[in-house]
Amino acid sequence: MQAVRTAPVVGRQLRRLGVGSSWPRALLGQPPLGLARRPYASGATQAVLEKSDPLSPEASTQEKQAKAESKSFAAGMFRGQLTTDQVFPYPSVLNEEQTQFLKELVGPVSRFFEEVNDPAKNDMMEKVEETTLQGLKELGAFGLQVPSELGGVGLCNTQYARLVEIVGTHDLGVGITLGAHQSIGFKGILLFGTKAQKEKYLPKLASGETIAAFCLTEPSSGSDAASIRSSAVPSPCGKYYTLNGSKIWISNGGLADIFTVFAKTPVTDAATGAVKEKITAFVVERSFGGVTHGPPEKKMGIKASNTAEVYFDGVRVPAENVLGEVGGGFKVAMHILNNGRFGMAAALAGTMKGIIAKAVDHATNRTQFGDKIHNFGLIQEKLARMAILHYVTESMAYMVSANMDQGSTDFQIEAAISKIFGSEAAWKVTDECIQIMGGMGFMKEPGVERVLRDLRIFRIFEGTNDILRLFVALQGCVDKGKELSGLGNALKNPFGNAGLLLGEAGKQLRRRAGLGSGLSLNGVIHRELSRSGELVVQALEQFAAVVEAKLIKHKKGIVNEQFVLQRLADGAIDLYTMVVVLSRASRSLSEGHPTAQHEKMLCDSWCIEAAARVRETMTALQSDPQQQELFRNFKSISTALVERGGVVTSNPLGF
Ligand SMILES: Cc1cc2nc3c(=O)[nH]c(=O)nc-3n(C[C@H](O)[C@H](O)[C@H](O)COP(=O)(O)OP(=O)(O)OC[C@H]3O[C@@H](n4cnc5c(N)ncnc54)[C@H](O)[C@@H]3O)c2cc1C
Repeated sequence: MQAVRTAPVVGRQLRRLGVGSSWPRALLGQPPLGLARRPYASGATQAVLEKSDPLSPEASTQEKQAKAESKSFAAGMFRGQLTTDQVFPYPSVLNEEQTQFLKELVGPVSRFFEEVNDPAKNDMMEKVEETTLQGLKELGAFGLQVPSELGGVGLCNTQYARLVEIVGTHDLGVGITLGAHQSIGFKGILLFGTKAQKEKYLPKLASGETIAAFCLTEPSSGSDAASIRSSAVPSPCGKYYTLNGSKIWISNGGLADIFTVFAKTPVTDAATGAVKEKITAFVVERSFGGVTHGPPEKKMGIKASNTAEVYFDGVRVPAENVLGEVGGGFKVAMHILNNGRFGMAAALAGTMKGIIAKAVDHATNRTQFGDKIHNFGLIQEKLARMAILHYVTESMAYMVSANMDQGSTDFQIEAAISKIFGSEAAWKVTDECIQIMGGMGFMKEPGVERVLRDLRIFRIFEGTNDILRLFVALQGCVDKGKELSGLGNALKNPFGNAGLLLGEAGKQLRRRAGLGSGLSLNGVIHRELSRSGELVVQALEQFAAVVEAKLIKHKKGIVNEQFVLQRLADGAIDLYTMVVVLSRASRSLSEGHPTAQHEKMLCDSWCIEAAARVRETMTALQSDPQQQELFRNFKSISTALVERGGVVTSNPLGF
């Protein structure tokens, strides 16, 4: 409790991620907290929680428990459960017609990028060449997911992922131009728009006649998106809002005609009459007047994409341009970002594929010490690891897109994992490609240095990987917390809740006694992968035991335990990725794919190392006293650096 009352700034920031608002009090044994009720403390977490139907008071504890439980595999991991519905078998969601249509698109889009687009020229000019933009518009690339009746191509998420993968293989600068337009720029209109908003805006956006941008970030508001200062004040007549504020680093900011803008609006609480500032999303046209932008930013990478400040100065926005509910803008923003994350993983899987081809080409042609360098073990290990990282990312991108196409709404943790993993894997793969290419990799001509520069931002935007790690860990802990809360209630009334106790308490007791939970992947994975399946189950049991122990120890204070949370997130990432590749490799083995044995090697290799990482990290968290010392040291070293304004030690020479 004390930890919560004295929560430092960082704790408040985390609650703005939405995680704090949903902690079950029964588990925490704490009185309601003002902070936990912050209206904007929503984010994706709240979005998940809000969509579950309220249960009648008569519903039994077990019914409530079952209803509250997420179908998400990743959420299940935190509870020590194998929730296999979404991950086994590896989903195949496209019907024959969708597959055929996609095949017809893949050829021309690939050829366009090979023959028309020039990524080096775009990078040098710091803008996408006009011929490329024109060609992409003609191909329909600006409206891939807009329904065909509104002038788009009408693709589902899986089809979209396949095309985005091609873009990612060739030019990430173009990818951001297209992604800022449709993955975030007008995605809000697709997800939350009224019929009239869709009919008014989507046809021109789909054809590329108008370009869209997503305006959330402000000078004082980055990761802490809830702290934006832009304001939209309703007119006394209620017909329009006056929008004022400035946004920074907006992709397509200098090109866009249509902006999804987030601003604070006064909202009156119907029950209390109190007025609070809440975020509302708006569709803003440049033609409204008062919308201007700064010069294109000079950047490290994705130079071809336009990034600019955008200013809103007394812009009159009609009330019918509110997107979603008044005061519901934070939810709109988080839904848009969650919804687009699989696309990033798909694009980066494409990037890795292209980069691996370059590395292999160099390794097969370069001779040193009288031998082709691919014959050296060090190069072989690099190539193999690159292939594994690509396989994991690609498997995850299509798993998440398929889950979304199947109508799943519980994919936020998985989507965040795919973004974190994809952006870090692509960085590693490209860095290793440069290493394999030696000095040639450092030269501009092969184009790998450009890809490395382009990739760096992917770990930062649309949720930094650090913030997303906190999200993964805390969202998982929220679900686990609910279970512990249910258990707490059940213990108060053991006769009325025997089923819950036998199930959950039994499992927990077995786990605590080191007897294993009886979990198994036998029957869902291919038998040739059973050893890897066992590794996953053992890792999951250990992970869940640590989650439970940390929750019991820290209770709500877990939000401030970032050293622990980061390690739990890494454990979750390793566990989810293992299961995804087990699923895909199982499908390939069962269906006799020509690459099935190769996939088995990729999968087994990943599982061996990922399981070992989980084991090591969880063992340290569980029982290593040095771990606590390490965390204390990190904190103290960092504090000393901050106090000193840089490194504390002096040069060994003494001057
Ligand atoms: C090229 C480019 C394009 C962009 N495009 C868009 C766009 O189209 N639309 C848009 O709205 N925005 C856009 N952005 C903004 C981008 O989304 C933000 O940069 C990002 O959200 C991070 O915010 P920040 O840069 O202010 O970093 P900060 O939030 O200041 O974070 C700095 C560091 O502190 C860490 N940190 C912050 N809070 C915590 C915490 N509570 N606990 C632990 N660590 C923490 C972060 O992880 C990060 O490492 C773009 C940015 C760039 C560079």
